[in-house]
Amino acid sequence: MQTKIRTQTAIAVENLNHYFGKGELQKQVLFDINLSIDCGEIVILTGPSGSGKTTLLSLMGGLRSPQFGNLKILDRELVGAPKTTALQSRRSCGYIFQAHNLHSSLTVIENAMMGLEVQGTYSRLERYDRAREILSVVGLEQRINYYPESLSGGQKQRVAIARALISHPKIILADEPTAALDKQSGREVVTLMQKLAKEQGCTILMVTHDNRILDVADRIIYMEDGKLVAKNPEAR
Ligand code: ADP
Ligand code: MG
Repeated sequence: MQTKIRTQTAIAVENLNHYFGKGELQKQVLFDINLSIDCGEIVILTGPSGSGKTTLLSLMGGLRSPQFGNLKILDRELVGAPKTTALQSRRSCGYIFQAHNLHSSLTVIENAMMGLEVQGTYSRLERYDRAREILSVVGLEQRINYYPESLSGGQKQRVAIARALISHPKIILADEPTAALDKQSGREVVTLMQKLAKEQGCTILMVTHDNRILDVADRIIYMEDGKLVAKNPEAR
């Protein structure tokens, strides 16, 4: 079969600059970022610690307000946009963080259900059913009533993936999702994200330092000192 023709741009960044702090303490952390990611693409963003990767992801996800340039998420401009636009953007993105951020007082299934809470359109029963379904996809159907503390690192990260994917987001932003995992769990988690993304047709932008998982990407981009730089993957 022919590869699918990609028509829509999921993330479009033009001349994006970002500063932290004010006055004399002001520091520029992103410099003239230009980047376009198509719907359905899996892109890995890599680069040294402190180079601005998390900042860029948090701007894309509507967790932080972009200041200068253009940043469009699913054709919605976020620079200079009202708060409601950032909120819409947050709803169309699923996040997976390194420190999985599960609620320790909630069970596995309750944590997964949280991924639908922000949508506000589902009854508790519907949320429960959808959570059970996605947890079985990530292989945790036997663990739905456990608390996070009794799970392994890989299992916790799979709960975080279930929570991010339960709402079928168009875009997944994952910030070092395998950093806390051993080699095999890291690989499993990423393969699972890739599989679910292909099934749901969503776009993934993943920050990672993990050389062992680079092969899942359609494209690898590299950041250094707040700038996207051209990089030959074979060069290192
Ligand atoms: P990375 O994710 O690539 O490690 P970050 O985006 O976290 O990089 O950080 C980029 C730079 O911005 C670093 O110099 C960091 O110290 C600085 N920084 C990050 N967050 C803040 C913040 N909330 N306030 C001020 N400086 C920040
Ligand atoms: Mg970071």
